[in-house]
This record gives sequence, structure tokens and C-alpha cells, in this order.
Amino acid sequence: MKAVELLDLTYRYPDGSAALGGISFSLDAGERVALIGPNGAGKSTLLLHLNGLLPERPAVPSAVTICGEPVVQENFFRVRKNVGLLFQDPDDQLFCPTVFEDVAFGPRQFGLAGAALAAKVGAALAQVGLAGYENRPPHHLSRGEKRRVCLAGVLICEPAVLALDEPTTDLDPRGRRELKSLLRQLPAAQLIATHDLELVVENCTRAILLDRGRIIADGPPSALLADETLMLAHGLERPHILSHAHPHRSQGGS
Ligand code: ADP
Repeated sequence: MKAVELLDLTYRYPDGSAALGGISFSLDAGERVALIGPNGAGKSTLLLHLNGLLPERPAVPSAVTICGEPVVQENFFRVRKNVGLLFQDPDDQLFCPTVFEDVAFGPRQFGLAGAALAAKVGAALAQVGLAGYENRPPHHLSRGEKRRVCLAGVLICEPAVLALDEPTTDLDPRGRRELKSLLRQLPAAQLIATHDLELVVENCTRAILLDRGRIIADGPPSALLADETLMLAHGLERPHILSHAHPHRSQGGS
């Protein structure tokens, strides 16, 4: 069964802005796919569709299926259990007075409480490098710390699908390294909207290039990102990391 399936997904915001036009692709269980493209390409809009945050008109059958279930109102509870969405702006995701409450929000909804909940929150915070942050108010944290709290709140629910919007933004280099390594260890299918081309090359087996709401290319990151003409035509660039990928340079040296 596919983890994510999009079939001719088209979306226009209520003010008339066309955001997505006829998007079709699927993700296998455990597949890690990057969503790249310039600002305004439709990446965030696409991710919001995965858990029904931008519902289609009720009469229209859903163009989005998660783990075999169409994303329609009557399935929202199960769909949202399966999809962990990391928002682009952490301030859109954090709304509780303490880090503990924010991270505990998901598992509480699924019935966890007491010591089991506290242990799970502690483990999730440790996973993102924030052990001991339980009693801190989220609004006093740095942007990078807030993003890690959001990630803990997503990972604690162990979703089958992760929809991550710019997950490495605001993180310092060590934080980025740790996040990339953590994401590589997770069994979830991952759809990652990002401008961090190192993340794409190091973590993803496939990249989808989106521009003006349409898929321009879909293939292995090394092939897509190495195509300088394609990258420049869509507001991106060939990442420097690819020039270090030559085999004879991987044996030590500087
Ligand atoms: P990306 O994440 O690739 O930068 P977005 O999904 O944010 O792209 O935006 C896709 C298009 O939809 C853009 O043209 C953007 O201006 C428009 N858009 C995004 N959010 C809204 C909104 N809330 N209302 C109207 N238009 C929007």
C-alpha cells in the first residue's frame, strides 16, 4: 500500500490564487522524497493537503490518499494520526504554556496520560536534543529550539508519514547534522519541502521539482540537482556538495 497518493490534486485559495494544478505522485512506505522549487511554487500548500488542512469542496472526491484512506472529513482523526506535519513557521504550531504540554498534545488525544505520557515526552525531547526542556515556555525559546519542540511533538506520535516544511531552517550546523541523522533513522515515509540541498542529497532518494503549482521533474536528487540549467530555470542552484561527491575525493583528504 502506498503511504501517500496524490491524484490530480488542484487547489486554488479562496482569494483566487492558483496554488496547485494537477499534481499526481505517490510515496511508498518509508520512502524519503524532497519537494524542491522556488518560493510560491506550492510546496507548503501541497503539504497542508496531506492532513486535510485545506479541505476540498465536500462534493469532490479527495485527490489525496494516506495509507489507503482518502483525506476526507470522516477520516480526519485517522489521517492525522498517520501524518505528522511540521509547519513552516513554528509559531503556528506551538500554542501551549509549556514545552511539555505542547509535546504531550498529540499523545493525550490518543489517550496517553500520567507517568507513561511524561516518559514519552521526555524521550521525544531527548530525541531532538532538548532533554529537560519540559517546563520552559515555548515563546522564550530560540527559533531553532522552537522548531525542535515542534518536531518532538510530531515524532512522539510515531506517524507513518512525515510532512516536513523546511525542517532545517533556523538550526545551527550541529542541529542540522543531528536532524538529518535522526530523519535517516526513522521508518516513516517522508515528504520534505526544503531549500537545503544538502538535506536533499544526503537524506532523500528522490526529489520532485515543483514550480507554479506543477511538477517539472521527478527523479534521483543527484540527477536533478546536477542539471544546472534546470535548477537555474526554476530559481534554484546546483549545490556545491555535488562537486565533492567525486569518488577519488571521498578517501580522506581535506
Ligand atoms: P511555497 O511553499 O512553494 O513557497 P506556497 O504553497 O506557500 O509555496 O504558495 C503557493 C501559491 O499560493 C503562491 O502563489 C502563494 O502566494 C499562494 N498562497 C499561499 N498561501 C496563500 C493564502 N493563504 N491565500 C492566498 N494565496 C496563498
